[in-house]
Amino acid sequence: MKKKEFKAESKKILNMMINSIYTNKEIFLRELISNASDAIDKLYYLSSTNGELKVNKDDLEIRLEIDKDNRTLKIIDNGIGMDKVELENNLGTIAKSGTELFKESNSDAKNLEIIGQFGVGFYSSFMIAKKVEVLSRSINGENAYLWESDGVDGYTITDASKDTNGTEITLYLKDNTDDINYDDYLDNYTIERIVKKYSDYIKYPIKMDVEEEKEKTKKKETIIETKTLNSMIPIWKKKPKDVTEEEYHDFYIDKFYDYEHPLKVITSSVEGLTSYNALLFIPSHAPFNYYTKEYEKGLMLYSKGVMIMDKCADLLPDYFSFVKGIVDSEDISLNISRETMQEDKQIKLIAKSLETKIKKELENMLKENREDYEKFYEAFGEQIKYGIYSSYGMNKELLQDLLLFYSSSEEKLVTLDEYVSRMDKNDKIIYYASGETVDKIKLLPSVEEALAKGCEVLFFTNYLDEFVIKTMGGYKEKNFMNVNDSNFDLSTEEEKKELEKKNEEAKDLFNSMKEILGDSVKEIRYTNKLKNHPVCLITEGDVSLEMEKVLNAMPNSENVKANKILEINENHPISKKLKSLYEEKKIDEIKQYTKILYAEARLIEGMSIENPTEITNLICDIMSK
Ligand code: ADP
Repeated sequence: MKKKEFKAESKKILNMMINSIYTNKEIFLRELISNASDAIDKLYYLSSTNGELKVNKDDLEIRLEIDKDNRTLKIIDNGIGMDKVELENNLGTIAKSGTELFKESNSDAKNLEIIGQFGVGFYSSFMIAKKVEVLSRSINGENAYLWESDGVDGYTITDASKDTNGTEITLYLKDNTDDINYDDYLDNYTIERIVKKYSDYIKYPIKMDVEEEKEKTKKKETIIETKTLNSMIPIWKKKPKDVTEEEYHDFYIDKFYDYEHPLKVITSSVEGLTSYNALLFIPSHAPFNYYTKEYEKGLMLYSKGVMIMDKCADLLPDYFSFVKGIVDSEDISLNISRETMQEDKQIKLIAKSLETKIKKELENMLKENREDYEKFYEAFGEQIKYGIYSSYGMNKELLQDLLLFYSSSEEKLVTLDEYVSRMDKNDKIIYYASGETVDKIKLLPSVEEALAKGCEVLFFTNYLDEFVIKTMGGYKEKNFMNVNDSNFDLSTEEEKKELEKKNEEAKDLFNSMKEILGDSVKEIRYTNKLKNHPVCLITEGDVSLEMEKVLNAMPNSENVKANKILEINENHPISKKLKSLYEEKKIDEIKQYTKILYAEARLIEGMSIENPTEITNLICDIMSK
């Protein structure tokens, strides 16, 4: 018998796979069981389209057999089986997937649940076996064939005999090494554990003979019992009380390729207008591509135990796009396609119901487990904000109570509701300030003033924050105000009048300063808010300094400008100095001072200055005098 070589590229992949990629060796069993289950699916499907083929549903099963003496593990199914050509085609080339071919030749079978679709396949058996035998007999023939391979050199196919259709795979386990005890796979408990972990919801029974010691009339006897290892019920159809947290977590990690447990598991079983089971997860961190175009949202969609779609996007609104999970509904037609999905009434109903559920669960987390919620918010808060901003406030009611901002008085993240609950009934304004970091915001002169006056100020450090509250307009009949806005003024009427008078007196000075700065500022004036600081920059109108920065950083942005007002501390010695310079008509010096003061105000706000060389030279000129 001549040995056939694996195709060259297959050989490479095979070696790579066996030796490096899969450190998680135990998944070989999942792959072989999935293949067995697919093969039974295919037989069952055939029998439903071919009247002559009689299949008794109750006989369909997968068997596992352990032979400790010969160190073999068998996986046996009574599915569709393979003839000689199929053995050759399916197991001879790695890249070729028989499953794919089957789907093509039976277009109606497209919806067949084919779990192995995304698996690593049959070849994973070589991770634990030094030799693999596949004895198979196709439902379409009388002959059986034996495929044998040691994984490296190639394979042979010889005539063999087998009484019934199906496939029997024999794994000859590798020799134990110092690091790996392959004998583990001869242990009942290990096998049972692996089946439970990965293949519990395979819909055919996975049976194994186990030795049990039983006491019979005072005598201990070893009897052999056949045990069904899997529950056959998908984890999402089980009652939450019958599933441990660890089982949910393992399922999540395995199914959604995460390396960390989810932050929250959400189960939902609904009956009524629409019926469905959902098992949803909130990841504990954002996937690396989450905030990019590459990220695809969606939930797995099953109907009657059959997977219809891997990522059904219509089940999730964009602002909850981080949610992973599975929805199983009998109400969904198996023939639904991506195109008809959007218009499907059931899908819409389920999506609405899931949205409400997710929102409620997040609110519960916020109330009951603040630490987890903050972790969630750190990962996905931006998406919630974006949900409000991008809908022009349409989702405001739904999402506003999920927002968190840093509070100056609490020195931690707070909700808007918590802020409002601390307000005096007559107060109408929620104060905020924007900047790069909490520490930098604290140092802003206008913030210092607001804090000194006892205001609670929300610190906005995310570039979206200010845009979000602008689209919201207000919250619970309160308005938002930037403490850096020209309207922010907590001084008394008397103080206001006094300041107005002083500004009037200095009108000419400010006019000549304004001439120097041109359009850069709208106005220059005194302020009484600044304690020890000489200057600050505030704005008037819709665009704040922080918004100007964000908008101008966007690609293709037109040059956006906030209406800036340069305020000078009326009590600072610099005010006196300016006044005397003006009286002495030292226009050149006023020019220098104005430029420097404006640059200072920009720097304080974390803005760049347009003419750093000129400014540094000016400062040195003055220093050298
Ligand atoms: P995949 O399952 O992803 O197609 P595999 O390498 O696991 O890839 O299997 C290759 C093909 O071999 C399958 O598509 C299927 O046609 C066939 N096959 C594997 N195991 C069995 C089995 N137990 N019974 C029948 N056919 C099988």
